[in-house]
Amino acid sequence: MIIVTNSDVLIPKQHDAFTIGPVTFIRPEHKGDKALIEHECTHAAQWLYVTVLSFAALAILLYLALPIHWLGLSVLSIGVHGALYRLVPEYRLRAEVQAFREQLKHYPDDRTESLAALLVSNYNLNISYESALKALRSSGLPA
Ligand SMILES: [Zn+2]
Repeated sequence: MIIVTNSDVLIPKQHDAFTIGPVTFIRPEHKGDKALIEHECTHAAQWLYVTVLSFAALAILLYLALPIHWLGLSVLSIGVHGALYRLVPEYRLRAEVQAFREQLKHYPDDRTESLAALLVSNYNLNISYESALKALRSSGLPA
């Protein structure tokens, strides 16, 4: 789901869009930016993937440990991707590199250098421009 808004509460000031779970908030001036929307859709897919996997793992573990409460507590899996993204820089880097690579596919020109600069400045990753550029240009996952 995409919601067009100019709220600095829903979208951090240095960003043009922001995705929470399956919901993407995008600034009005970027609502037609297919590449940016694909970037955010990648984050929604990451959330879904991690939520399904962690739900299954939590459900099995909790069923074995607490048979009565396993289903209710497994709902906690909804927050796993967001928690990992915020708390683990390596996870955030992998998530952003995957999303930026998807975004790059949808521009008619090569914007790798400008997106590498964004990766360095906007995501609190403590990486160099050269390593951001290398991560976006390689096909493997960043180390
Ligand atoms: Zn992103």
